[in-house]
Amino acid sequence: MNKKIATLRLPPLPTIRELLKIYKLRAMKQLSQNFLLNENLTDKIIKKAGNLGEYHVLEIGPGPGGLTRSILKYQPRKLIVVEKDKRFQPTLEMLADAFAAVNGKMEIIFDDIMKINLNNVFPMTEAKPWSDTTPKIKLIGNLPFNVSTPLIIKWLHAISEKRGPWEFGRTRMTLTFQKEVGERLVAPPKSIQRCRLSVMAQAWTCPVMHFVIPGTAFIPKPEVDVALITFVPLTVPRTQHEFKIFEKVTRHIFSFRQKYSIRGIETLFPLENRTELGQMMYKLSDLNPETRPIELTVENIDKLVSAYKYLLEKHPHIGLYEYRASRRIVSLSHAKHIEVAECTEL
Ligand code: SAM
Repeated sequence: MNKKIATLRLPPLPTIRELLKIYKLRAMKQLSQNFLLNENLTDKIIKKAGNLGEYHVLEIGPGPGGLTRSILKYQPRKLIVVEKDKRFQPTLEMLADAFAAVNGKMEIIFDDIMKINLNNVFPMTEAKPWSDTTPKIKLIGNLPFNVSTPLIIKWLHAISEKRGPWEFGRTRMTLTFQKEVGERLVAPPKSIQRCRLSVMAQAWTCPVMHFVIPGTAFIPKPEVDVALITFVPLTVPRTQHEFKIFEKVTRHIFSFRQKYSIRGIETLFPLENRTELGQMMYKLSDLNPETRPIELTVENIDKLVSAYKYLLEKHPHIGLYEYRASRRIVSLSHAKHIEVAECTEL
């Protein structure tokens, strides 16, 4: 049954459209600024983030505050917003004052979400054991396109090490992505969109796509549509390997996505023993080397990582091998033999 949650009425405020006019706030392309002005839509997004009452919420990139207003309606215990563009100071302060007038707490931080240290943003009293239910902390953002992929990779890394907002337990995130990126994040094995990002996201979280927001809903209108995704960190991740080595093997596998997966695996090794060690990886993992990259499950890749680690222990020098670096050297000396990279991702 859908329980109706009582929403808060903020003191009267100018509309976001009026505020953009009053403060002459023109969207800046270099900060991927595309604003949502439709309150029904921002409410719909926030409903997908689930209950916010009693929660500490961190919003990434509030801009003029459209989505922020919808968050405040659901009366979080505290809202913290991180925005890079200081031009939004008056509109955000107006919102913080309006929320304070009804005894709410909103903190504004002007910083870069890629650089900010989120360790001290939430109180330790909210921390829960990893295996418990999710903590009363949520991350929400209509993310700038130029930041969304590096940010989710950075945060998946933090989840794998239970750092930052994940020191408090399995903190949920509800974030927007370019539709195509969203489709990759949730793509199951055998799906045409399956790629490194799908595997990395699904190794540590359960990403769910809720709906697609048409580009026409934004001001200015971007070239693309946008997907809303929620990530809940898994109680037991689908790999126990360290993020970096798991990412490296996954990246190599998908660098030749049209070929058999062994083609990418072979590039983990120096040319002279590439074939032999590549075959050994599949033998150790009990996998067919003719499996296509998109067919591999997270568990299959986990086995390949175990095999790679085993080979690294036996032959530590192969850990120093860098496929890209070696190719560059080859391309300088034997221009005719340059292989064309098929890595089209990210
Ligand atoms: N939340 C607003 C909305 O939905 O209308 C604005 C969303 S807009 C797509 C992205 C916002 O992120 C902009 O306000 C932009 O200034 C901000 N932003 C861009 N890069 C950022 C960064 N590295 N750190 C924090 N905020 C950033």
